[in-house]
Amino acid sequence: MTTLADPVPGGRPGDVERAGALSGELSGRGVHGIVLAYVDTAGVARVKTVPTAKLASAAAWGVGMSPVFDTFLANDSIVTTDVLGSPDGDLRLYPDLDRLVELAGQPGWAWAPVDRITQEGERHPGCSRTFLRRTVRDAAERHGLTFRAAIEIEWSVARPPGPDGAFVPAVTGPAYGATRQVELSDCAAELLAALARQGVEVDQFHPEYAAGQFELSVAALDPVAAADHSVLVRQTIRAVAQRHGLAVSFAPAVLGQGVGNGGHVHLSAWRDGLNLHAGGDRRHGMRPQAESFVAGVLAHLPALTAVTAPSPASGLRLRPSQWAGVFTAWGRETREAGLRVVTGTAGHRDQAANLEVKPVDLAANPYLALGCLIAAGLDGVASDARLPEEITGDPALLGAEEAAARGVRRLPPLGEAVEEFRTDQVLRAALGPVLADAVIAVRQGELDAVAGLDDDQVAAAYRWRY
Ligand code: GLU
Ligand code: MG
Repeated sequence: MTTLADPVPGGRPGDVERAGALSGELSGRGVHGIVLAYVDTAGVARVKTVPTAKLASAAAWGVGMSPVFDTFLANDSIVTTDVLGSPDGDLRLYPDLDRLVELAGQPGWAWAPVDRITQEGERHPGCSRTFLRRTVRDAAERHGLTFRAAIEIEWSVARPPGPDGAFVPAVTGPAYGATRQVELSDCAAELLAALARQGVEVDQFHPEYAAGQFELSVAALDPVAAADHSVLVRQTIRAVAQRHGLAVSFAPAVLGQGVGNGGHVHLSAWRDGLNLHAGGDRRHGMRPQAESFVAGVLAHLPALTAVTAPSPASGLRLRPSQWAGVFTAWGRETREAGLRVVTGTAGHRDQAANLEVKPVDLAANPYLALGCLIAAGLDGVASDARLPEEITGDPALLGAEEAAARGVRRLPPLGEAVEEFRTDQVLRAALGPVLADAVIAVRQGELDAVAGLDDDQVAAAYRWRY
């Protein structure tokens, strides 16, 4: 389990000794530097690094970094809120030693996600990992619920881009094709080996639908660990690909048209070691709290989109009939509804049953996305919410009247999603004013940055940013 306690100046009990021992071991194995990783509000993974010998000092006193990155846009320009975006101030980055791993795809380096606290030792209200840790902790304390989560990763493999930044797929075989698996054979085998060495349990790896596209899914973990793995796995995919002379993009859409890269979230609520999505008497075996949890996520889905599909490029992916789940609807094993209720195979349901949330991509900050999804679900639990009628088939084929009668709505474009987020008191209260305002300011900044651009230009603007 992930440490849910906040960092403290001087180090959490035992951390400094542990970091000292780790740093000796890592140095002995030829690890020279530690990557300290976090994700900004725009969804860009950012880092600082320290020499391995400084790990104990980082565990005790953190590593300095400006809070300005909370309002960075994906193009590295900066917007402001009432409290963020100024050149003033400093934060301390604290590595989570429980999640520190030697990077198999980057010899000489280890990696750890960080929590950020103020110089006074207080929680930084803009820290997305702290937000998720606290959301998970509160759910356990207040509702007796724990969660398991996994984030799927889809990405495009390309020839290294030239000055024009064009996307040239590095493989040519058909969707899900054996040819494409052969084309990426050495790189993919090295990737699986690297992830295994890093303790990441991979469930599946396969060629996907779009040109040059692949997908990897990992085993479910506690939500904080799942978000950490999402960041770590992408770092590893990129590093291994680069060693094979290949470039990768996790952008929601690398082209203006066609199927995009998703980052579907799998989430299940548990109580006392029991999966609430199986063995119950509600639809498809859900227990009452699981149904209410799913209903809560469904009710907040349009506003959640501002967090789970946060880039102007996300809108290029969120098109009907491309399995991106762009409707406020749910169904068992349907790939066009926003929410897919996964029951798992008979005999394995107590472990496998979960909720898959589809309108999520990898421009999303995984800590914000998981924290907001859990907050939305808990809102449903608090009000004993019930699910509407189930959808089968493609909701895009429903007539306008029937869709309206059944509450099936296409998810709004980013600008409208931000407006829904702005008035969503549940999500705003969960995030707190600093993070909520950062989300709004950064989304507005991204929208301003692409004003007047057509779909191809939007895809090009974000193609190599994620
Ligand atoms: N590429 C699709 C998306 O953008 C998902 C395909 C799948 O279901 O794996 O969400
Ligand atoms: Mg897929």
